[in-house]
Amino acid sequence: MIEYNLKSVPQNTGWIEVIAGCMFSGKTEELIRRLRRAQIAKLNVKIFKPEIDKRYSSEKIVSHSEQSLPSTIINNTSDILDLSHDSHVVGIDEAQFFDSSILEICIKLAASGKRVIAAGLDMDYRGVPFEPMPQFLAIAEYITKTLAICVVCGNPANMTQRKIASGERVLVGASDSYEARCRLHHYIP
Ligand code: ZN
Repeated sequence: MIEYNLKSVPQNTGWIEVIAGCMFSGKTEELIRRLRRAQIAKLNVKIFKPEIDKRYSSEKIVSHSEQSLPSTIINNTSDILDLSHDSHVVGIDEAQFFDSSILEICIKLAASGKRVIAAGLDMDYRGVPFEPMPQFLAIAEYITKTLAICVVCGNPANMTQRKIASGERVLVGASDSYEARCRLHHYIP
């Protein structure tokens, strides 16, 4: 995972970090880890997530391993600018559920000197890139791709396997309907 040495951190500007991967790959856990370290460094941290994610808790971001941090639910992405003016670090979870306006917001935050860390699902259950994550990866200074473990064979897993048949792109709050699979063991149900 990214550990910055002082020479590699941009000076006098913010930047964008993206943590992208399939379900169960530890994206939120890694986001929480980075945000906690920023808090230890006495930096002011704000965390946002889209309205669609009511998994586990509405006022926190929670990883599958039960770590959590308080967060604010956002309906309108422009609210993020107002709510984070006094923060040094802005965390965004479930970034794939925001519309593409989140990109412009994060560019503004970074330009105003903030460190932005966005975590999100990079592909849907079919293996199709999940907008706006491809664009997020393009505009970021730093990218971390998280891999899970294939439950069939133990290989590194890059795919989210849906275990029930549904044509909907998102089944919110149904994480037990998914598991991580490698390329060989992934199929579209
Ligand atoms: Zn496998």
